[in-house]
Amino acid sequence: MADSIALLGSTGSIGVQTLDVARNLGIKVSALTAYSDIDLLEKQAREFRPPMVAIGDDTLAPELENRLKGLGIQVLSGPEGIRAAAAVDGVDKVVVAIVGIAGLLPTIEAIRNGRDVALANKETLVTAGHIVMAEAESRGVTVFPVDSEHSAVYQCLAGNRKQDVERLLLTASGGPFRGMGYDELRNVTAEQALKHPNWSMGSKITIDSATMMNKGLEVIEARWLFGFSPEKISVLVHPQSIIHSMVEYKDGSVIAQLGQPDMRIPIQLSLTWPERCANEFPRLDLIKSGVLTFEEPDMEKFRCLRLAYDALEEGGTMPAVLNGANEAAVKLFLEGRIGFCAIPQLIEKTMLAHEVNTSPELDDIIEVDKWAKRMVGDSVCI
Ligand code: NAD
Ligand code: MG
Repeated sequence: MADSIALLGSTGSIGVQTLDVARNLGIKVSALTAYSDIDLLEKQAREFRPPMVAIGDDTLAPELENRLKGLGIQVLSGPEGIRAAAAVDGVDKVVVAIVGIAGLLPTIEAIRNGRDVALANKETLVTAGHIVMAEAESRGVTVFPVDSEHSAVYQCLAGNRKQDVERLLLTASGGPFRGMGYDELRNVTAEQALKHPNWSMGSKITIDSATMMNKGLEVIEARWLFGFSPEKISVLVHPQSIIHSMVEYKDGSVIAQLGQPDMRIPIQLSLTWPERCANEFPRLDLIKSGVLTFEEPDMEKFRCLRLAYDALEEGGTMPAVLNGANEAAVKLFLEGRIGFCAIPQLIEKTMLAHEVNTSPELDDIIEVDKWAKRMVGDSVCI
């Protein structure tokens, strides 16, 4: 079990739940970071007393410093401050719970400093999986998944041989609009999209779940974490979110991992593996959860999932374009500036306009992300 962690993105949904796990298990916290929520960051810093905190928005640094005066906590700021927190001394694991591509450089920083990573941030592997996993391998660093589906796959693969795997089956709840027709989808609001049936999460991933882009990003994430080709990664809609994912083997055996839809379970496992620690979280009661059902995903209605498979197939910079365009489109949708169905349209338009670089370096990925976001912004302004 980890004795001490650095937690990047501590004020978000995963961040707060990670601190809950740390509190329960008595894990020390050596660094905390957030983008702008200084009220919560201050409260967390007072409770966990990390030697270092970093705030992404550097205009807030003087205020935070003032509030933490006398506690012996170093206050850093901006992207460099967050990268410094990713490399802080004396931690067993760096938990990356930042949302979006903003998690990429801090993750790389942690790996380059030889720190094991518990990775919640899927956009890191979507945009630069080939770079991140190669860096981790060359430095002997473990990247342990926090995402519930990937945590499930990790557990279902344990003790088996990779060459015996027929396919990975990632489960998806289908989101709040699963049963709707395309015409109804056109009129859904951000408020409706933010009501996920099974999980309580940050706003970006909740919209991604409603469009099913979340599952598309997870297919790409699985490709890099586990090294299987896209044809071996399938998606299965399972509205109850009890089975978190499965692995099918070539002898016809299918191994599944089940649990309550509670992110604290995979978060805890990412900090304790291979140990399993007792906790007070609600237990799965299969009698109460009732019938478990499965459906094929509708990739025509939920076009984002199809676009993610296309981007993975094209490879190179295309997944970064998919991700950047999605981040920009989701932001516009949350601001009420575009409709729900414009999200896949804007992503597809941006992907079509992109000329793929087949072997991008980190700088190319960062550039392409900015380009994709600009393209989406320009398309909406016209
Ligand atoms: P969130 O929006 O609730 O929290 C995001 C955190 O990142 C906050 O602490 C915020 O301050 C920080 N942040 C945002 N922008 C930043 C920037 N530019 N620089 C530095 N820090 C920044 O998000 P979340 O729901 O906790 O999700 C975090 C990540 O975990 C996402 O990549 C998401 O896909 C993944 N994930 C989340 C869940 C979930 O249940 N919430 C499940 C699986 C995976
Ligand atoms: Mg997930």
